[in-house]
Amino acid sequence: MGSTDEGGLVSRRLAPLPGRCFWLEEALAHDPGEPCPPLRGRATADAVIVGGGFAGMWTAIELVSREPSLRVAVLEADVVGGGASGRNGGFVSSSWHDLPAICGLFGREEGRRYALALSNEVVEVGRFCREHGIEAWFHHEGLLAVRTGSWQAGFADAEAVALAEELGLADRIRPLSGEDCRAYADSLRFVDGAFVPDCATVQPARLARGLRRVALARGVRIFEGTRATGLERGRPTVVRTEGGVVRADQVVLTMGSWAAAWPGFRRSFAVIADHMVVTERIPERLAEIGWASHVGIADGRELLSYLRRTDDDRIAIGGGAASVLFDGRIGRRATADRRVAEAAARGLVWLFPQLQGVRFTHAWGGPIDHTASFLPFFRTLPPGNVHAGLGFSGHGLTQTKLGGRILASLALGIEDEWSSMPVVGREEHVPPEPLRYPLVRAAVWALETGDRREERGLPRGLVRRAIGGAPTRYRERLVARARRHGP
Ligand SMILES: Cc1cc2nc3c(=O)[nH]c(=O)nc-3n(C[C@H](O)[C@H](O)[C@H](O)COP(=O)(O)OP(=O)(O)OC[C@H]3O[C@@H](n4cnc5c(N)ncnc54)[C@H](O)[C@@H]3O)c2cc1C
Repeated sequence: MGSTDEGGLVSRRLAPLPGRCFWLEEALAHDPGEPCPPLRGRATADAVIVGGGFAGMWTAIELVSREPSLRVAVLEADVVGGGASGRNGGFVSSSWHDLPAICGLFGREEGRRYALALSNEVVEVGRFCREHGIEAWFHHEGLLAVRTGSWQAGFADAEAVALAEELGLADRIRPLSGEDCRAYADSLRFVDGAFVPDCATVQPARLARGLRRVALARGVRIFEGTRATGLERGRPTVVRTEGGVVRADQVVLTMGSWAAAWPGFRRSFAVIADHMVVTERIPERLAEIGWASHVGIADGRELLSYLRRTDDDRIAIGGGAASVLFDGRIGRRATADRRVAEAAARGLVWLFPQLQGVRFTHAWGGPIDHTASFLPFFRTLPPGNVHAGLGFSGHGLTQTKLGGRILASLALGIEDEWSSMPVVGREEHVPPEPLRYPLVRAAVWALETGDRREERGLPRGLVRRAIGGAPTRYRERLVARARRHGP
């Protein structure tokens, strides 16, 4: 693939590859797992899960952990981890930076409960991997959230830090000086930042494939290459697939961004696509920039750059740009948009000019189901036995772990600490098409070009500020409404 040219720009030869991304390619080479052929003909189950990403797999495992005799089936159109779950940055992160909005939407007590539950799941993912021998490159070493320009607000903004303190959570966001930041990795761009201990990095596809192995060992039937084509809701509900049908008492919908094509979810979220690139193995150059730990790094631009080391001494970086998908239709723009991948690669050399000339071996993208509240939603559909967990908004690694507990409680009809989480039963609509696409596209354009202008020392400008800030202002309106009328 491409390399950086003399001027520091990523070569035109960097073209996202069709097929599997780096993570899944590596994970399948490490352990292809036992075959899970497509469903042919009829099957019955107590619970059927549509979608074998993290949300679906955690739900399946949670169900059989709580009720070992339950007959659980997973229908996956591609392979487990073939969607966003095998294609992401691998940041298993808490949501402390988002505490003001979470508490604004749900009230202080419930917001605190939700945010604490998420941070606890960071530990739980690691515990699960250890307990089941999943070699997923899990490192619970924290997140360095840096400002790479004084124009960036940063994670440690005064409101988040003050609220964390008020709620007795002061140690969850620790402000750092520029020098402190550079001790983690030596970038001349680091102005200052914050350290968030409740964050881990993982090889996401190894985790997804590890969950597949554990689920199979516990008797979950997994049908890969099996696309669900529709539901006949009733008791039982019938799920139709391309090659068969499954009748099940309970149905869980975890198709991620693909749900945008399903009736009932067309206005649940907008679909954007993020891209990542990974370097060749660069142990000496990692040593040169002093990045010795597995602390993940994210900057404070509007379309943030996020980067982390891999266990085989590469750097994987994503962000800095995004593509927008009309009506949530997932095609090549979601997985292979060269422009967006190049922005990610350029971001690395901008952050670390010492890495000039580094080669990138893989580039890929994936879809993100972004809700108006920036938070997932969990909804039960009539007649009461179909449950959806969607809209993880680009932060699904931790939230799907909690989501699996929530969906299992909903499917088992249990009222408990999980089914009463404040993300259950509340949902905000996004604008309908054909209005949504130009609105979201304009916002992404304004954020991306605004970041680039600020990077060059130019003002973002009123127009970009107004257009780019629209999604956040809309969310602030939701928060203000929740404050007025109660969560
Ligand atoms: C480039 C990128 C970087 C990201 N970085 C991070 C990060 O660092 N940290 C973080 O927390 N989050 C990150 N995310 C988001 C995270 O990956 C998602 O929130 C999470 O994986 C969502 O999991 P899911 O199970 O809901 O969806 P998915 O993993 O997309 O799973 C849905 C599955 O359903 C299947 N499917 C679709 N339709 C059907 C059908 N009709 N029948 C059967 N199966 C179907 C798909 O093939 C897919 O496998 C990132 C996302 C991207 C794209």
